[in-house]
This record gives sequence, C-alpha cells and structure tokens, in this order.
Amino acid sequence: MVRKTRVVPAGSGLHFGASRRGIVYLVGAGPGDPDLLTLRAARRIREAEVAVCDHLVGEAILGLLPRRCERIYAGKERANHALPQAEINKLLVALAREGRRVVRLKGGDPYVFGRGGEEAEFLAEYGIDFEVIPGVTSANGAAAYAGIPLTHREHSQALRLVTAHCRDSLDTLDWASLARERQTLAFYMGVAGLGAIRDGLLRHGRDAATPVAIVEHASRAQQRVTLATLAELEDVAMRGHIESPALLVVGEVAALAARLHWFGAPPRHWEALRRVA
Ligand code: SAH
Repeated sequence: MVRKTRVVPAGSGLHFGASRRGIVYLVGAGPGDPDLLTLRAARRIREAEVAVCDHLVGEAILGLLPRRCERIYAGKERANHALPQAEINKLLVALAREGRRVVRLKGGDPYVFGRGGEEAEFLAEYGIDFEVIPGVTSANGAAAYAGIPLTHREHSQALRLVTAHCRDSLDTLDWASLARERQTLAFYMGVAGLGAIRDGLLRHGRDAATPVAIVEHASRAQQRVTLATLAELEDVAMRGHIESPALLVVGEVAALAARLHWFGAPPRHWEALRRVA
C-alpha cells in the first residue's frame, strides 16, 4: 500500500496533528485482570491520546495508558457523578473532531450491556471513524476464573446473558423461558435484584435446588465466589454482603466451581456458612 505523505511547509502554522482525522476506539477492557486484554486492545490503550473510562475499568488497566494521555472519567464511582449517555456520545464526537486518537475504555465487552451499541450508532451518524475491539465479557471472565464451564454436555446446552439492571428490566423478562432446565443463566447487574430473580425463576418452575454462584470482582485479587442454591439466593442477598461488580450464574454448572476453582480463595458454600453461624 502506498501511503500519501503530506508535506507541510515550515511556518505555515498547519500541524499534522491538527489536520489529522480523529478516531474512536471502543475498547473492551475485560473483567479486570490486564492479562485478559486482547493484543489489539493493549496496543490501542498504549497509543491513546485521550481516554474516556468507565468506572469498571480498574487501576491495573488504566496504568497502561501513556502518561501524557488525557483521562476523562465517565463512570459514577470514580468521578462522583455519572456523565449521562448523551453527554458521553457528544464528548466522543467532539474529541475525535479535534483529530485525536480517542480510546473509550469499557469494562468487559463493549457490545454486551455496555451501551457500546449506542455509542457506535452515534459515531456512525456523525461520520466519525471508529473501531470496536472485543473484550472478555464478565460471564466468560467470571466463569473461567471461578471454575464454572458455562456449557457442559451433561448439564447445559445453552447460555443466556441477562440484564437485571432494575425493577423494570426484571419485570419485562420472559421468566417462563428463563426457568427452563438445561441452560445456564448469567445475570449482569443483578446484585440488587437477587430476591426478585429467585422469585421469578421459582414461580416458573425452576428447581429450588438449582445451584447458583455469585462471583464478585471476577479475575481481580479480591475475587470471591459464593455457592448456594436458587432457594437460598435471597438469604445470600440479605446477609452475604455481596459487593459490586458481581455476576450471578444460575444452573447445574455453577456447582462445578467446588471442584474446578483454581484462582484465588476457594468458593464459600452458603449452606455450610449458615450451619456455622
Ligand atoms: N460490558 C460489560 C458489562 C457491563 S454491565 C461486560 O461485558 O462484562 C456491568 C455488570 O457487569 C456488573 O453489574 C456486573 O454484573 C458485571 N461485571 C463487570 N465486571 C465484573 C467483574 N469483574 N466481576 C463480576 N461481574 C462483573
């Protein structure tokens, strides 16, 4: 490929940086462990001129940004206020129009419950160049690091990624289909709704003894895995001090964490904990 080189006359006041076309990289940062970044994500992060970061992206990954890179925090935990999505969209367009290489760093995968779709639509609408770099989504990260095969010939033929974001989203879920046997459910953003998830699934016939796992801080040093049954889920929610971010896995495969865990502390068994208490 022949690249055209722009020759800028000295003293013209026209800098390559100012005239260059900006681009936005929607980068999936994975669940936390920087080793889980793709090579492409790591490269884009290292070359970033400005980064717009989600609160889920931890220090280990932010530390890979170049020192001169401007950082803008869009997530609530870090900046103490959340930039509304419409503002983030506009910000990405404005930064790209300045001719900069913009990295939009998102936890997990940008296209799984990360509103990356809305950002890409907005960029496309405004004619901004963009690239989407997949990341290890929390369901994959949590499952691998907790010892939970998401599908298994003997236990589960399907995997469903479900958002349990708020009361409304829980109300609109198709519980009858979610309650079917032989599938694994991975609930994102479910910490506040554990009781409602339990009720919805039990009401539609899922066995009360179905194993569940709650994986907090997957792939990070503080990772903690709690194993329980569907029936115990509300109790775990009330007394388990579950911290965000956490992913809930429902299905027979969750029980395999007892044997297949290899990372961090062994899982705690809710029933055993209760007996001691
Ligand atoms: N785009 C992200 C999801 C964003 S929604 C992805 O693909 O993973 C935020 C939810 O993701 C959290 O509420 C939590 O359920 C889950 N999550 C993100 N990081 C996590 C982690 N390290 N451990 C467990 N769950 C996590």
